[in-house]
Amino acid sequence: MLLKPIIGSLLLAVCTSTASIPSPVEVIRRAHTTGTVITKCAIPGVLALAFDDGPYTYTQKLVDTLNAAGAKGTFFFTGTLYGCIYNQKTAVKNAYDSGHQISSHTWTHTSLGNLGASQIQTEMTRVEQAFVNIFGRKPAYMRPPNLSTSANMLSVLKQMNYVVITDDIDAGDWNHESAQSSEQKFQNAGASGNGHIPLMHETYDSTVNTLVPWLINWAKTNNLKIVTVAECLDDVDGMYQPGNFTVNGQSTC
Ligand SMILES: [Zn+2]
Repeated sequence: MLLKPIIGSLLLAVCTSTASIPSPVEVIRRAHTTGTVITKCAIPGVLALAFDDGPYTYTQKLVDTLNAAGAKGTFFFTGTLYGCIYNQKTAVKNAYDSGHQISSHTWTHTSLGNLGASQIQTEMTRVEQAFVNIFGRKPAYMRPPNLSTSANMLSVLKQMNYVVITDDIDAGDWNHESAQSSEQKFQNAGASGNGHIPLMHETYDSTVNTLVPWLINWAKTNNLKIVTVAECLDDVDGMYQPGNFTVNGQSTC
């Protein structure tokens, strides 16, 4: 008489425990979220410093500052915004070799929200090829210039296996806000909860030389580990596109 209910609850227990333990493959697939805009880290205790618009003359300084702090940053590089990316290839390679995440900010820094599929693909593939030529890999993360997105743009980038990142704190450096004003924004947002992904630009002296050192100290004070955007999304293996790619020897834009 009791056998049936016991077997029933055993089966239920087996089903429940199987469903609650996803396979490692499923975990990786779930963390690499494409087709939607990501604004914030997926885990607490971290800070993902993310820098737009380089490479620029401050790139190497920024790499050195992050390295000295044991911090990992994310660089959203363009191909041509401040001169040709190949003119800064040593700094780009040094950033990659130091374990910072190299990501795409498109070839010409144009707003993708209004573009058609083939134009979006060209903006992405040209900077991909530059990265292949400089350090042998293609990124799987991007931040849209001017944070411009559209349903079409997200669909194209999903097909290209890109994670699209914006931000949850705008440092405002692009709008000539002082480093002190930016610092206040971090203090207001606080260090608890899932980690922040700020919008910052490596092309401003105040960001590189004042805000970043302050943020390194702020992270230390609040027990936050400074990690790449991919790591803060539990997607450290999804930072770059899978596969091997061919260098085409190009060194000019
Ligand atoms: Zn930008």
